[in-house]
Amino acid sequence: MTHSPQPASSDTEPPVPQPVPSGPRNLRTRLLDLFVTTATVLEAAPIAARMRRFRLGGEALGSLKFVPGQQLRILTGTDGRVGDPRTYSVWHFDPAAAVLDLCVLDHGEGPGSRWGRAVEVGDQVRFRGPTGSFTLRAAAPYHLFAGEETAAVAFGAMLAALPDDAPVYGAVETATAADRLPLPRAADLSHPLRGTASAASSQVLVDAVRDLRLPDTPGVAYLAGEARTIQSLRRHLVEERGWPRKSVVMKPFWTPGKKGLE
Ligand SMILES: Cc1cc2nc3c(=O)[nH]c(=O)nc-3n(C[C@H](O)[C@H](O)[C@H](O)COP(=O)(O)OP(=O)(O)OC[C@H]3O[C@@H](n4cnc5c(N)ncnc54)[C@H](O)[C@@H]3O)c2cc1C
Repeated sequence: MTHSPQPASSDTEPPVPQPVPSGPRNLRTRLLDLFVTTATVLEAAPIAARMRRFRLGGEALGSLKFVPGQQLRILTGTDGRVGDPRTYSVWHFDPAAAVLDLCVLDHGEGPGSRWGRAVEVGDQVRFRGPTGSFTLRAAAPYHLFAGEETAAVAFGAMLAALPDDAPVYGAVETATAADRLPLPRAADLSHPLRGTASAASSQVLVDAVRDLRLPDTPGVAYLAGEARTIQSLRRHLVEERGWPRKSVVMKPFWTPGKKGLE
């Protein structure tokens, strides 16, 4: 027979029953919990200059189905409040340990950024997913990754899942060197810096991809991040390098003036 550890005071004082919250908000939360997964924040720490990494854990995570590159729909909000949903890629998933990691960029204001700044160890997080088709194409002769800070999170999971001998190319742009995530296969990628320029319609990233020495025949490109930048990247691959459109997998993550693109 096993015994749970008890606080020292519990042999003399019976536990005080806690009141069950009632009212419409509690009913709403309980209904919501039928459709979402709830996890606990086990770790929360900076992983780059403007990014925090969160490790979520909980029994339910062990049975999630995840393909590298997929994302969660997080209900932002702390202290038990249910906030606006925002989308975040899974950086790392370990079903045996029932944990997964997210990396959230602090780009300024917005429910996602505020949530990313506020989350602490012990908080409960509700989410839907994983979901999404921004995933590796197994038959690719080689893999080309291009995007900025937010895209790097999905790229991290995808790169980690590739066999060691899979050919990899790419450019991952950040504002500064301190904004870089520790990516697998980093030596196979270029790492352009845009400085104070905007990540929207980034010519720095398009030029970095133009400078890549790629094989003469197309591979598969994974383009993610700011919507207008990835349109320009696709134009470059299709119009300048002659790639078929079907060889370009795109996922716009955000764009100026739009809230929670997905
Ligand atoms: C599939 C998918 C996966 C994603 N994965 C990640 C991830 O792993 N990590 C991550 O940090 N983000 C990720 N994002 C992007 C994130 O969901 C958006 O940036 C989201 O809009 C942030 O919410 P917010 O409430 O902070 O800002 P919002 O209220 O949604 O946006 C307000 C304004 O802020 C600006 N803005 C939004 N995002 C950015 C940005 N990244 N950089 C600069 N300005 C911005 C825009 O002008 C926007 O109009 C992902 C998005 C998608 C669709």
